[in-house]
Amino acid sequence: MDMNVTQPSTLLVLGGGCFGLTAALELRARGWQVTLIDQGPLPHPDAASTDISKAVRMDYSTDEQHTAMGERSIQRWREWNAQWGEELYHEAGYLVMSRHSLEQPGFEHDSHAFLTQRGHRLRPTSSEMLRELHPAWNHSAFRGGYLNPVGGWVESGRVIARLAAEARAAGVVILENVPQPRPLYDGARCAGITSAQQTWHADVVLVAAGAWTPTLLPHLQGVMWATAQTVFHFQPQDPRPYTPPQFPVWGADIGRTGWYGFPANASGLVKVANHGPGRRVNANDPRTLPPGEEERYRAFLRGTFPSLADAPLHSTRVCLYCDTFDGAFWIDHDPAHPNLIIAAGDSGHAFKFTPVMGEIIADVVECKANPWTQRYRWREKTAAHSDGARASE
Ligand SMILES: Cc1cc2nc3c(=O)[nH]c(=O)nc-3n(C[C@H](O)[C@H](O)[C@H](O)COP(=O)(O)OP(=O)(O)OC[C@H]3O[C@@H](n4cnc5c(N)ncnc54)[C@H](O)[C@@H]3O)c2cc1C
Repeated sequence: MDMNVTQPSTLLVLGGGCFGLTAALELRARGWQVTLIDQGPLPHPDAASTDISKAVRMDYSTDEQHTAMGERSIQRWREWNAQWGEELYHEAGYLVMSRHSLEQPGFEHDSHAFLTQRGHRLRPTSSEMLRELHPAWNHSAFRGGYLNPVGGWVESGRVIARLAAEARAAGVVILENVPQPRPLYDGARCAGITSAQQTWHADVVLVAAGAWTPTLLPHLQGVMWATAQTVFHFQPQDPRPYTPPQFPVWGADIGRTGWYGFPANASGLVKVANHGPGRRVNANDPRTLPPGEEERYRAFLRGTFPSLADAPLHSTRVCLYCDTFDGAFWIDHDPAHPNLIIAAGDSGHAFKFTPVMGEIIADVVECKANPWTQRYRWREKTAAHSDGARASE
């Protein structure tokens, strides 16, 4: 490992999702000469960072680091809205309900207790309150939960386009639609990036290729892998019942079932998804829905939001997480390949942290102390699991 990499020099970034772009922007601001190479256009239609929306929350059970990162990110999302002069982050609130009472240990109870202790003002929500204030819910099925008014959703694909434009304006060279770029080695040392058509050299190479990372770097396949997750966009005839405040971003027993979703966006699309175990795939596999998936979604909707159960389907997506064995991101120098740094392993929950991710990755690149980087270091495989809202069954 080359621990002398502290001075700005030349950097190649492979991958322009939220990890690669924020790292490129931050390191450019610190004086690095940065070139970012992507296999596709930005935003890439198959990248995890694309899509119409991503949930933004600080609610992470008793996980102090991710709670703190969520708090800081939300402040910065608001600042970015102001700076950009358009609202890409929507503070619609985050409503999590469980079939159990709020007193019963689990994601809702633990997040509620932990955030209240940190001074956040949450609104406990009973099934009677659900009936009055959030009438789209099947209130008889959900006993307890809470609303966190701070949190919401972000227009993720548009954020990526915005960050790419900012990076270009700051002097990052962005090369899109490059065929099959991959790291180039000189012995063990990573010397640059090569593609079917061209080779680039740099002092440091950062691989931020999301779910494609374990294919590009097979020695990581024991600790991270791609899992396919489905997303459904419904288009109800009247989207108004699915708008805030009566319909904020929501989780329906999310720690046990993985179901979550979003208010209608400006086009009236209501997104529903499942933060569950998913299916292990290769990132280059065709993106197909598993058989019976639409019926699984509609059965869930019948039990939770009955009025949405027969809403016309607008579109679906199969999107890939890059899961690590313990759910923590993977951001570190590669001990086997001097000058190669990995920023991947998003484990399906990183987009909300986009405003703090560039600093985290840049501090790792520059070997600078940062209280948040230790958790994402190169590590041995254990059974730990870190994302409080991920359903495991
Ligand atoms: C269905 C789904 C729902 C999600 N919901 C949420 C949510 O609500 N809230 C939240 O916080 N997070 C959410 N996430 C997680 C979040 O989207 C990811 O954590 C985040 O986008 C990961 O960003 P990334 O930069 O690592 O990867 P990506 O966004 O996938 O970017 C990787 C980039 O690398 C490029 N690339 C790949 N291979 C190569 C190569 N060989 N050469 C050059 N470029 C290459 C790709 O084209 C792509 O542009 C969700 C993810 C999915 C899949």
